[in-house]
Amino acid sequence: MEEDKILSIEKTEGRRRCPSCSEENKNMIYESTDKKRIISDYPRVYGKKYRCGRCGQEWKEN
Ligand SMILES: [Zn+2]
Repeated sequence: MEEDKILSIEKTEGRRRCPSCSEENKNMIYESTDKKRIISDYPRVYGKKYRCGRCGQEWKEN
């Protein structure tokens, strides 16, 4: 689907920022659940993905 638009980056220390435009205002970075990435089966835990409200970039952290 849209999977190819999602960047995969290393989890960074400190502030989360957009890997594309470096936005770091957390009110501009939207967190959501990535249902395609299951971290644990029981209890069911999904990965998180993020989207930048400024440039629209989506990414996930490893
Ligand atoms: Zn951005």
